[in-house]
Amino acid sequence: MIIRNGSCAFPGEDRLLRRDLRISDGRIVAIAESLGGQPGEDEFDATGLEIFPGAIDPHVHFDEPGFTHREDFRHGSMAAARGGVTAVIDMPCTSLPPVVNAEGFREKLEAIGETAVVDFALFGGVSGHRVEQALAGDMAELAPDVVGFKCYFVSGMDTFTAVDHYSFGKIARAAHGLGRPLLLHAEDPSVVLPATRFMHELAQREDREPTWDDYVDSRPESAELAAVAAARALARGIEPTLHVVHVGSAEAALEAVQGGASAETCPHYLAFSREDFSTRGAALKTAPPVKSRGQADRLWKLLADGTISFLASDHAPSTVAEKNTGSPWNDYGGIPGTGTMFPYAYSEGWRAGRLSLDAFLRCVSGGAAARYGLSGGKGTLAVGMDADLALVDPAGEWLVRGAELLSKGTITPFEGMRLAGSVRATFVRGTMVWDGERAARTGRAADGIVAAAGHGKLLRWGYR
Ligand SMILES: [Zn+2]
Repeated sequence: MIIRNGSCAFPGEDRLLRRDLRISDGRIVAIAESLGGQPGEDEFDATGLEIFPGAIDPHVHFDEPGFTHREDFRHGSMAAARGGVTAVIDMPCTSLPPVVNAEGFREKLEAIGETAVVDFALFGGVSGHRVEQALAGDMAELAPDVVGFKCYFVSGMDTFTAVDHYSFGKIARAAHGLGRPLLLHAEDPSVVLPATRFMHELAQREDREPTWDDYVDSRPESAELAAVAAARALARGIEPTLHVVHVGSAEAALEAVQGGASAETCPHYLAFSREDFSTRGAALKTAPPVKSRGQADRLWKLLADGTISFLASDHAPSTVAEKNTGSPWNDYGGIPGTGTMFPYAYSEGWRAGRLSLDAFLRCVSGGAAARYGLSGGKGTLAVGMDADLALVDPAGEWLVRGAELLSKGTITPFEGMRLAGSVRATFVRGTMVWDGERAARTGRAADGIVAAAGHGKLLRWGYR
């Protein structure tokens, strides 16, 4: 098929270029100012639309199997497709069993079955109560199937616990030996645990209900910085193996990158600060929490100059009841973000002039593809690459409504935000999976999903 006349985003360019794309067997096979059609060849008229490489969301919790009351691959991948995301990478910790060994990987793959509409890769993980098994063979067995390993310094999950510093050093060396990044949830327990106790006791002493400030102060910015510094010290000599997930402060990002590690941040750290809890409440609760005012501007600059490698959503929805327990301590920490990541970055990053075109492309697709061994087939608009495309109507606008995200999670801090541009269509390997025009016509977001469940397939390290 030919996609005609779109304004295309190519790497290294500072502006969009009007081109025709020919797609065959799911790949881009030709790019030219004008391509002659062949008899019987399908054509899609992209006049007036902008064409980006499909976004890659390298940090999602799709919760399957085990916690599918919160999210599953069907809904999560539909939300992704709607938001211009063509591939996600799922975290190992929020499923039962967690993906800590080959059996866990097989069970997750079986549970996903034929449900995803966008492509996906999986991370493996190392849980604190299985460090010995991980080092004795589980990591090595998992490595061919996963694009990285994840562990936590502080974990709120009984089924996937934190690792101590000593173990972390050994896990980092194992990951390095296996040629996979080690991802760290960087909050230091020697800050977070006592701070949490202190804030609980403070509210009791002052004889008042807990507040959002209590929650934010229980996980201060220093906890993140201390964790990154510790991780660097423990992985001395192999720091480029480390990747720090969902960094919320500029100091932590700089600390990570100065040692050669990489870092990601999330749209919620760019869009919000702790002051926003007063209006958004639990809808904004994540761990780590959003930081003080001023951090967002600094994070944008670090994204623009490449200090922070890419964006991720940390998509982690929950039920409405879990978000409304009546206590900031108990409300679920996590938001459905995979559907808002690319539209937010498009509107507030590239269109608003905070990111150059090249930086925008790195942040939403190329950076993650390179970090996780997928850049042989994903993350760039070029001949030979998968035809993973996000087509944006630049004249459109998107008013974010949680109920229409297509995720199982409907509570989002982005509720009511107006974003420039609307995702008109998303293609995964040349097949349209999201048809925004159809959804607009019927007035039902779900009608925009036009690919069969199961179109999404597993990606492994070295994909090409
Ligand atoms: Zn996460």
